[in-house]
Amino acid sequence: MGSIRLLPDILASQVAAGEVVERPASVVKELVENSIDAGARRITVEFREGGARLIRITDDGCGMDRSDALMCLERHATSKIRESSDLASIVTMGFRGEALPSIASVSRFRLTTRPREGGGGDPGTQIRVEGGVVRSVTDSGEAPGTCVEVADLFFNVPARRKFLRGLQTEAAALLRQLEPLVVARPDIAFTCIRDGRELFRLPAAEDLAVRLRDLHGGEYLARMVPVPPTMHAGIAVTGWIGAPGEGRSDRSHQLTFVNGRIVSSPVLSMPLREACDGLLPKGLHPPAVLFFTVDPSAVDCNVHPAKREVRFRDPAVIREASLLAARTAWRRTAPSPESSRPDALDHALGGLPGPGNDPLFPPIMPRIMPSGPRGYALQGELRVARVAEAPEGSAPASPNTSSSRGGEGERPAALFLGSLAGRYLLFEQEEALLLLEIRAARERIYYERNLARLSSGELESQQLLLPEILEVSPADLAWITGHREILKVAGLSADAFGSGSLKVDALPAGACDRPVREIIDHVLAELGSLPELETPLLGTSAREALAASIGRLAAAGAPHPAGERAARMLLEDLLCCRMPYATPTGRPTLSQISPGELAKRFRA
Ligand code: ADP
Ligand code: MG
Repeated sequence: MGSIRLLPDILASQVAAGEVVERPASVVKELVENSIDAGARRITVEFREGGARLIRITDDGCGMDRSDALMCLERHATSKIRESSDLASIVTMGFRGEALPSIASVSRFRLTTRPREGGGGDPGTQIRVEGGVVRSVTDSGEAPGTCVEVADLFFNVPARRKFLRGLQTEAAALLRQLEPLVVARPDIAFTCIRDGRELFRLPAAEDLAVRLRDLHGGEYLARMVPVPPTMHAGIAVTGWIGAPGEGRSDRSHQLTFVNGRIVSSPVLSMPLREACDGLLPKGLHPPAVLFFTVDPSAVDCNVHPAKREVRFRDPAVIREASLLAARTAWRRTAPSPESSRPDALDHALGGLPGPGNDPLFPPIMPRIMPSGPRGYALQGELRVARVAEAPEGSAPASPNTSSSRGGEGERPAALFLGSLAGRYLLFEQEEALLLLEIRAARERIYYERNLARLSSGELESQQLLLPEILEVSPADLAWITGHREILKVAGLSADAFGSGSLKVDALPAGACDRPVREIIDHVLAELGSLPELETPLLGTSAREALAASIGRLAAAGAPHPAGERAARMLLEDLLCCRMPYATPTGRPTLSQISPGELAKRFRA
């Protein structure tokens, strides 16, 4: 042994290294992917000084015999594809056969490996390479599996070494690369050791929820809701997404996977933001961990050296699938997102039998069980039968008709406890305290109702007994007369009267007990600058703006719900909304304090 030989074209490898190996993080990604492809059950990632000093990845995968170990250091040596047609159906993480030779050409590299199967007589192999030059090939005598050590990255390429950032930055980048790999494979145990200290040790888990909890803690999961498996045009989507109202200003908390591979693409992420419209202020993005399964031939992974990007054959259906998944998740959440999740988690963690074992309703599905194809009911004290799954844009039942609901056979709705500060309604629900903010709840209810009405006609309007004459500025007068028709659709009938005056004949029904001046000011403030209203035909966003604005007006003026019945109806109407947990502008409508939280407060 001890033969020294040059790798075929070191230079080519170093050039390729420029593409594949940008920094320690990319080395970790490539090596961990190799371990995953090798069928490892346990992977240990160690690094020192941000990975620039040392990276060591150890796995218990299939290992390699000596000839494979030597082969894998050749450029374009890969066991994963044999002919170009294989490129159309890649299921492994790696396939280019570039990583190992590239990494070995820019570091002090050591590969220790021993085959798992049929390797009883195999002594194991250790190959040391320095800057692409093989220094030694020896027996290793290690356990089956593979260990790759990459020391002094870029020691022989000073120009690249200079580009490495501070140790903290490199370490952070490395961990960010590791996260999606760890999340994608809960079935593999991962250990991470930084500068000799264990950062995490995650046992193999059956469930994504458990892996997410182990990695991020229970708090993280408490802010997420499950995305039940959804199917759209042959694309399956599942995972977790931020509860309504949860948002971050960047997308670093969105992990999207296609066929198990992390992929960041606007095709996947934009629809998530779109699904939040009306739930989350602009500029915020919901955290998400989403897995897309598509026919491998419908996606081309070979467009980016580090395989971060893919090309979809039909981006439109992927986009739709993503949108649908997010909407389904939010529609399915329990009365309060908070309330469902601890149970959901217990359920997932406890592996309880029941509907959770149905592949269509994974164990993370909380207390809401589908009560029929078109509605859902909630277990426990709160039981709200949905009259019908509101299709896009249709109205929740209006408060006036809700008395017909909750009839015989239904258990009473959540126990009404009282109201607080004239602003909140308090309910008891399964020993938890449920708080409803009256105005926010109404904004949501009225918004959806208005939107439904607008799709088929005009909002209700109430004629004034005596028209009211108001002085307004010339600009406001011009705007109002210019938008007469649209305002009429919103239930407001007004026109110029003489010079500089406005005559108001009718007001939106929900708002008519407010001073006319206030209503006009509100309309001008909220709608006066909307470009969407400039066209004679009302588009979706114009309708949404009208529905929200008039809804807010009505919510601000509506009286306090009198008595238990009115309070319960408000809750019911809210829960019948398509998106009950936030106002159209993203303000929460409901909040729940769980028995656990209460106990914590009293240190019980
Ligand atoms: P690719 O992953 O694209 O095939 P690599 O250069 O990363 O290319 O690896 C080359 C080959 O080396 C792989 O195809 C595989 O056969 C082998 N290999 C690499 N890492 C491991 C490992 N940890 N365990 C077993 N085999 C490995
Ligand atoms: Mg690889």
